[in-house]
Amino acid sequence: MEIKLQAPLDMHLHLRDEEMLHNIAKASSDTLSGAVIMPNLVPPMSSKEAVIAYKKRIFDAIGNSNFKPYMTLFFKPTYDKAFLEDIREEITAIKLYPAGITTNSEGGVSGFDVEELRGTLEAMSDLNIPLCIHGETNGFVMDREAEFVSIYEKLAAAFPKLKIVMEHITTKESVAALEKFDNLYATITVHHLLITLDDVAGGMLQPHLFCKPIAKRPEDREALLKVALAAHPKVMFGSDSAPHPQHAKENCGCAAGVFTAPIALQLLTELFEKHDALDHLQAFISDNAQSIYGVEPLNKTVTLEKKPFKVPANYNGVVPMYAGEEIAYTVKEVKIG
Ligand SMILES: [Zn+2]
Repeated sequence: MEIKLQAPLDMHLHLRDEEMLHNIAKASSDTLSGAVIMPNLVPPMSSKEAVIAYKKRIFDAIGNSNFKPYMTLFFKPTYDKAFLEDIREEITAIKLYPAGITTNSEGGVSGFDVEELRGTLEAMSDLNIPLCIHGETNGFVMDREAEFVSIYEKLAAAFPKLKIVMEHITTKESVAALEKFDNLYATITVHHLLITLDDVAGGMLQPHLFCKPIAKRPEDREALLKVALAAHPKVMFGSDSAPHPQHAKENCGCAAGVFTAPIALQLLTELFEKHDALDHLQAFISDNAQSIYGVEPLNKTVTLEKKPFKVPANYNGVVPMYAGEEIAYTVKEVKIG
């Protein structure tokens, strides 16, 4: 059996920088038409020059132009309209991190006072720049995302024309929020559709499945599966593939992030097939994102074949999800144009 996907997109991707960027960029660019690139480098992407220079480094690492990096800017409440107008052409979205919540998010937002954020968010709304949010509080780890939903709702109500993307949602509470506000959207990762906290910490600790937000309960995964498999028009695929060197994961201070880039399309195809939802895969993997973001991706067709694929133990120094295990689909062909 073969499945063809048109212009697959990853609407939440970490490509990192320098050596890591060179080691892992092609894991995404070989099969994807484009991806939304997260800005949490050191220092974070917060100027036009930095964004342009990073985009160039991404193309250098990929070695061709058959992939569109959709660049993002690291949110600061001090951006004014003139600055945003000037940078508008270079970016697809702005990413907001609560301070200190994940990898390189130290310069993020600490209070969510609407009036403090109003200047920047109104300008973004006027310029139609979507706001992507890593929605977690500093609360108890299992409750952080559910606690953040009231902040999503507060911002959605205060800025009704601003598109707000709840990134990598993991809870039934976030899924429910999608229905409450027209301007709330969400990305969902492949790993959160597959695992729960049990897979991470129910037996021997699995560092390569440890990520932020942490995988939650079975009923949360059910809620995510329900909207993903139906390709609910407000949800789209965003891998949050987040590579770390093997030593940073297999360490007593394990870094957060699951590296799924080389196998994400195969895993999604297997999952959608298992649930008899292959008809909706194209919308989840690309069409919904195109309507939500208004992007026009490069024409790329990926053919997946139902043929066992053994996931490499290591991908240029990074251990992927399901390393050494067999998955059901193999990428057979990628056609450009
Ligand atoms: Zn992320």
